[in-house]
Amino acid sequence: MSGRLVVLGAGTAGTMIVNKLRRKLPRDEWEITVVDRDDVHPYQPGYLFLPFGMYDDSQLARPRHEFVPDGVELVLGEIDRVDTEGETVHLSGGRTLDYDYLVIATGTSPRPDQTPGMLGSEWRRSVFDFYSLEGAQALATALESFDHGRLVVHITDMPIKCPVAPLEFTFLAEAWLREHGLRDRVELVYVTPLPGAFTKPVASAQLGDLLEERKVSVETDFLVESIDNERKCLVSYDEREVPFDLLVTIPLNMGADFVARSGLGNELNYVPVDRHTFLSPEHDNVFAIGDAADLPTSKAGSVAHFSVEIFVDNFLEHVEGKPMTGSFDGHANCFIESGDKKALLIDFNYDTEPLTGTYPVPHAGPLALLKETRANHLGKLAFRWIYWNVLLPGRPIPLPAHMSMAGKHPVLTEPDKESP
Ligand SMILES: Cc1cc2nc3c(=O)[nH]c(=O)nc-3n(C[C@H](O)[C@H](O)[C@H](O)COP(=O)(O)OP(=O)(O)OC[C@H]3O[C@@H](n4cnc5c(N)ncnc54)[C@H](O)[C@@H]3O)c2cc1C
Repeated sequence: MSGRLVVLGAGTAGTMIVNKLRRKLPRDEWEITVVDRDDVHPYQPGYLFLPFGMYDDSQLARPRHEFVPDGVELVLGEIDRVDTEGETVHLSGGRTLDYDYLVIATGTSPRPDQTPGMLGSEWRRSVFDFYSLEGAQALATALESFDHGRLVVHITDMPIKCPVAPLEFTFLAEAWLREHGLRDRVELVYVTPLPGAFTKPVASAQLGDLLEERKVSVETDFLVESIDNERKCLVSYDEREVPFDLLVTIPLNMGADFVARSGLGNELNYVPVDRHTFLSPEHDNVFAIGDAADLPTSKAGSVAHFSVEIFVDNFLEHVEGKPMTGSFDGHANCFIESGDKKALLIDFNYDTEPLTGTYPVPHAGPLALLKETRANHLGKLAFRWIYWNVLLPGRPIPLPAHMSMAGKHPVLTEPDKESP
């Protein structure tokens, strides 16, 4: 078997895939190409810490080509369109790449242009985001001179990548204000389109309690219609208003526009795929993985990692005409920074809510699930080293791709506690 594999996107998932598949696909039979628009690979989880001075820019980016192995061609260019009939990728500027197999791993991006008023006169004056490097840098500067008023953290709509990041930002901001002696002068408000603090009910209850303890008021079910720049307030479709002095918003997240131009996406440009194998139901040689895929689990680096583990062996079976035997279970885990050098950790999949217990070793940890600990915080910080040195180069990590129930305990909700 031989062929041409083209991977779109040299981010977290695309980089891992080309590293792992280059080792497995014979070089004299398989050409592998990976495409990205630039040669800068960002460490996106670091954007959370940048506004609080915990990282500087130099720790958050490395040249992409350093992570692309020998025997894989890195093409730098903007993807314009995929022609699935002609099995060709068109880049802006006219270059084309023919493929036998295509993997779409172009992620998701913040789109402030999608909300009326977000890019208005207050953008990067009192309206900021931290889902981009420039946004996080601008917010760091704004925080230096912010010493009183209403700080509003806002999510435009779900799904967003790293859905816990806005909560983490809120907890870190609260701790940062306390450290700087400003907490009494700042009202903190968390505005979400969800009915609670998070998507998963058990974690949502616990995270909601943490917000309450920290005296953060929460505005739920808030679907923003526009931002009024003159009056500095968020306006919802049901005509509620939330005024702010400093707004930290998570703009609508969307998949890449070329996905829509190629007729491959849903209304948010995410590619529908089989949730266990990542194969397009319409095209037997097109896969989508990571944030680009329309999967009912979190958009997160951990999901990209566990997905790639399943995808690589499946891909080898698929190109040999065999049934794919691996089945992704939606496994996700996310550290949740909660301020004061502590963090929680949640671990879940398509079917199982976050549970209490230990991770990754049953009964031993060292990480604790759904509990604030210093070890979890150190785990989150250590992840940056693991990302550059182990994850991206596709080296083995001793973490099972599937969620394990060993060492975990169900969290009893109030009605459960009362039942016999
Ligand atoms: C603030 C923040 C905090 C986060 N924290 C965590 C965390 O703690 N834990 C965690 O697991 N995850 C976290 N994430 C999420 C994580 O970074 C992403 O889920 C992960 O990077 C997804 O990988 P991906 O390969 O799908 O997409 P990406 O890594 O985003 O890669 C997509 C690539 O496609 C390229 N691309 C897109 N469109 C085009 C085009 N038209 N032409 C050419 N190239 C294109 C982009 O340049 C990019 O390099 C965080 C994200 C943010 C923003």
